[in-house]
Amino acid sequence: MLAAMPDSAPSPLSAGGPALRGGGDACPGTLRLHRADDGALARVRVPGGVLSADRADALLTAAGRFGDGELHLTSRGNVQLRGLDAACAGALAELLTAAGLLPSAAHERARNIVASPLAGLDGSPALGHRLAELDGLVCGSAAAASLSGRFLFALDDGRGDVDALGADVTLIAAGDSCLLRIGAEDEVFRVPGGEGPRAALLAAEAFLRAARDSGAWRVKDLPDGVRAGVRADVRAELVRTVGAAAGPAMRRPRPRTATPPAPGPYGSTNAIGVDVPLGRLTLAQWRLLTETARRYGNELRLTPWRGIVVPGPFARDEAAEALRTLGAAGLIIAPDSPWTGVGACIGHPGCAKSLSDVRAEAGTAVGPVGRLPVYWSGCERRCGHPHGEWIDVVVTPDGHRISHVRGERRDPQATVRNGPAALAAAVAAARA
Ligand code: SF4
Repeated sequence: MLAAMPDSAPSPLSAGGPALRGGGDACPGTLRLHRADDGALARVRVPGGVLSADRADALLTAAGRFGDGELHLTSRGNVQLRGLDAACAGALAELLTAAGLLPSAAHERARNIVASPLAGLDGSPALGHRLAELDGLVCGSAAAASLSGRFLFALDDGRGDVDALGADVTLIAAGDSCLLRIGAEDEVFRVPGGEGPRAALLAAEAFLRAARDSGAWRVKDLPDGVRAGVRADVRAELVRTVGAAAGPAMRRPRPRTATPPAPGPYGSTNAIGVDVPLGRLTLAQWRLLTETARRYGNELRLTPWRGIVVPGPFARDEAAEALRTLGAAGLIIAPDSPWTGVGACIGHPGCAKSLSDVRAEAGTAVGPVGRLPVYWSGCERRCGHPHGEWIDVVVTPDGHRISHVRGERRDPQATVRNGPAALAAAVAAARA
């Protein structure tokens, strides 16, 4: 789960970065810290969630030297450091820059890219080259520096997992081609595979041109007519840049529910994966994951569902042993853990808006494995909530309100006012 913060966070502690459109985009970064109740907060973008062991070490150093000794995973596969002294901003930026985690100061908050975590590991196509190319193109585009920290790119290997996350621009691998989706539209454009990253950037730049007047931060915020104009603009640009190879628009409905990789071994032990209870990792857990990565594929992949995939290859007994060790350290190594699917925002005491300590409450209510994920929020903002179908538990002045969410639809189930046992029972019933 994510250690989240409000989208419109107040009180930024600015140390640089691109100019803000209208001053409303207060998404934190590493150069622009956010002031939370437990100290300053930095969000480190990790495109595709992919970290080398060396970069993971740099984050470990940063969390230990400047932060509260924990690393928090976000719903976009990024890392948050909390409890920072605001005076550390310069030293933190220096450390991350030296590790290659801050390749462009102007683009640091625009590098929001999620990618299918198992790409290339279980028979699906690898995405590494497209990820690197897209990140490089974003960092090389002067226009892209003004993308908001909320704008999201997704690279899907064809299985539909990150396609379901409702990114602003999604590239889907499809044989020798890529499909380009803009916003949540069911219509996609087919482009030659090698042109995919360029087409994704082109779509983001078309969005920025269209958003200039409306002030929208995301594609879904554009009025319908303007959104249609963006699609027409992108189509014309594709025809101009890749000619006849830009196929006609076609229908490919967006998956409504994402299926995260279940913890355990994958693809005959090409990789192993763990989930992270409430998305919080201690320094010791992070160190153990990094050491495991260094011994095998030298890489960690942070998933948008607060899990971590460690690519191998592993011999079968090595995978089992590595999972046992990670499980003993408190990480989730099998889908039958009671913690599977349980998430919560940062809540009290880290966030002043929270009406209670939702992480503690989520822990108290952990029970049988539920069919649906559950997400606890300390207030109606629901920072870092899941997508698709899930159970929403939000603290209100009247009690804990439980709802069943399916996409945009929210069906209230109960409001619980009478203590932890009743709350746990109601949440378990809603998830069943
Ligand atoms: S209490 Fe509200 S504002 Fe604070 S982290 Fe939770 S959902 Fe976000």
